[in-house]
Amino acid sequence: MENEKSKGQLLQDELLINNKNGWDLISDDEAARADAFCEEYKAFLNACKTERETVDYTVEMLEKAGYTPFDRNQNYSAGDKVYINNRGKALLFATIGTQPIEKGVRIMASHIDSPKLDLKPRPLYEEAQLALFKTHYYGGIKRYQWGTIPLALHGVVVKRDGTMVKVNIGEAESDPVFCITDLLPHLGKEQMARTLQDGLKGEELNVLVGSRMFKDDKASERVKLYIISLLKEKYDISEPDFLSAELMLVPAFQTKDLGFDRSMIGGYGHDDRICAYTSLRAAMDVTSPAYTTVTVLADKEETGSDGNTGMQSRVLEYFIADLAEQQGIPGRVVLSNSKCLSADVAAAYDPTFSDVSEKRNSAYLNYGVAVMKYTGSGGKYSTNEATAEFMAYVRNILDEKNVLWQTCELGKVDAGGGGTVAKYISKLNVDVVDIGVAVLSMHSPFEVVSKLDTYMTYRAFYEFAAAK
Ligand code: MN
Ligand code: MN
Repeated sequence: MENEKSKGQLLQDELLINNKNGWDLISDDEAARADAFCEEYKAFLNACKTERETVDYTVEMLEKAGYTPFDRNQNYSAGDKVYINNRGKALLFATIGTQPIEKGVRIMASHIDSPKLDLKPRPLYEEAQLALFKTHYYGGIKRYQWGTIPLALHGVVVKRDGTMVKVNIGEAESDPVFCITDLLPHLGKEQMARTLQDGLKGEELNVLVGSRMFKDDKASERVKLYIISLLKEKYDISEPDFLSAELMLVPAFQTKDLGFDRSMIGGYGHDDRICAYTSLRAAMDVTSPAYTTVTVLADKEETGSDGNTGMQSRVLEYFIADLAEQQGIPGRVVLSNSKCLSADVAAAYDPTFSDVSEKRNSAYLNYGVAVMKYTGSGGKYSTNEATAEFMAYVRNILDEKNVLWQTCELGKVDAGGGGTVAKYISKLNVDVVDIGVAVLSMHSPFEVVSKLDTYMTYRAFYEFAAAK
């Protein structure tokens, strides 16, 4: 028969890696489920442009689903749901499993901070009758990408008496926005000769915030004064309140479907809120897991995971120790038997910049969730490398449940590199592997992902959390 496969074709099917584009593999039904899931993700991403906003939004979701604040003096049993809000900037939550906790927990850890422009402690100044904010960029950005785009101001101001004021300007249709100005090309001759790295320098990321003068002949710096008087009026804050604030500028635009076929999503902060959302949804959907599931949304990953809201803090260790103590088990025993998916994005192969990738070990859009045995750089430095045994465990789950997945490295050898929270979790003697969605234009104000990959990442987390 004509359609019958040749011996060679059969051997190819049996023995070789047969990665295919997901569009050749998924049914119309599954594509529709992916689209529907991504609509909910887009709403999440639009509402969550900072780590604090992500915590607030997620806590609301958790409470609606019956999660309560963790109380170490209370005894929990299978199916119980608890969370810890770490300073409003990081979040841990757990669903208690039917298996004794001694057998370990299943951890999914992502991060909810993204590259952004933080205001300096004394941000507001006036020069040439314009009011501007000084910023200090947060995380690895290509600074030139942040000039001349609309920016929104998000964050909190905590006054001396502890009252918190939440700020969000630039998202509503009627809101004003802010921006960093850049030179016109006509006068940019010297600037254009700079390296791309210095296209906009750190101290040139100054944000234009006003130009109207306060009416008073005697006062000085009246543009700045007018801005401060507006802030006083709207938020009851004055200049010293900037010292106890976390205010940041983020891209003001909303998440959009991308492409004629709407197969992709463009937006700010996919890294790593896409893994936060897919993992938290999966953890919430597995309502009676065999093994206790622990989901972590960490802060500070983009600046090295330092600080008490970052993954290097001991909050996860303490949480698991408290859960373990309830069953009379030392926390270290639970950790030593635990498994973790370090949920973070991968660099997608970009045909325009293909020379930084090694094409056989790259992640491609629409090929499913990307599993990275290791990240790091320069000869596997600074990374957790998952063991062969744990890789086998994970790929078996994905294959058994027909989750589309691919494997990749972070670019070609010696092209650069980077890390994730995996190495910090591995220090707790937990088995960890990196897994997540492949992203184009990572760390830019407008990152791109595939809807199909997003859904497959949710499915991967779900099957890991649900595994017996
Ligand atoms: Mn990341
Ligand atoms: Mn990142």
